[in-house]
Amino acid sequence: MCFIWACTKYFARRNPKIFVRISHPTAVLFVIVTTVFFVVLQMFYVVPQLFDVHGLMYKLVWLVEIFIAYNIFGNMLACHITSTSVESLPKDRQFPKPEEEHLWHYCDVCEKLMPPRSWHCILCKCCILKRDHHCIFTASCIGHNNQRYFFWFTLFMALGTGVALATHMIATLKFFSYSDLIFLKFPKDNLPPFWLVFTLILNTYVFAAPVSSVLMQLSVFQHNGTLHDFYSDTCDLGLWENFKLTLGEKGLWTFLSPTVKSPLSHDGTQWKIKRHHSPKLHFLRVSD
Ligand SMILES: [Zn+2]
Ligand SMILES: [Zn+2]
Repeated sequence: MCFIWACTKYFARRNPKIFVRISHPTAVLFVIVTTVFFVVLQMFYVVPQLFDVHGLMYKLVWLVEIFIAYNIFGNMLACHITSTSVESLPKDRQFPKPEEEHLWHYCDVCEKLMPPRSWHCILCKCCILKRDHHCIFTASCIGHNNQRYFFWFTLFMALGTGVALATHMIATLKFFSYSDLIFLKFPKDNLPPFWLVFTLILNTYVFAAPVSSVLMQLSVFQHNGTLHDFYSDTCDLGLWENFKLTLGEKGLWTFLSPTVKSPLSHDGTQWKIKRHHSPKLHFLRVSD
């Protein structure tokens, strides 16, 4: 896995233009096809094996599926269209005030001073405010302005594949009796269909990716860091404050929809630090 990641990074650095042209549409299409595939599979093949299609439970599962799919696609789109580059700042905030100048750093590529915690993305060709990483699945950089959408996007992906996995497992286990499961016996006359076992295995793999991404994001929130300065706790203001800095003033209510208005507490150029850290330490230049 590390080898694939290292090769991808190497190729992205060598040929950023080609990398973006190939990886962005492929990855976005992958998310769309996977989501639609699992919703159709769930609702027309797996869940009807558990509940009566005319009953209340089946309708409730439909509602849950629609809510999850809406939030996957909604947050994915919001993540893509919300710019988090330094250029998205109002013109007067793209340059430091005289008293802030010593805290900003110089970007050799953009050839100008950039705010603390921002750094350059070779794929976006600009500096990104509190840059976390470049995500090919949303075809955008993840940073100060859109990390909220990225977090919910990955969480709903994990939730969607998690619900699919749970129903898949229950539907598969229905073919076995308690004694079969305890003694690991596989009855020859009543085996689950091949497609069910195959999609169950597929579902397990698809579930692992967003879950690991959610866990990474939670670790990042824990110290108010980024994937780039993963172990730094310089800006750690406590878990709840860290969450609010990313999710905005509505906090966890942003779970409901990407359209919930939740203004961020600042524009991403000024960062509070833990009291025991000196400002000099905090605003060290972040380099790739
Ligand atoms: Zn730059
Ligand atoms: Zn980028």
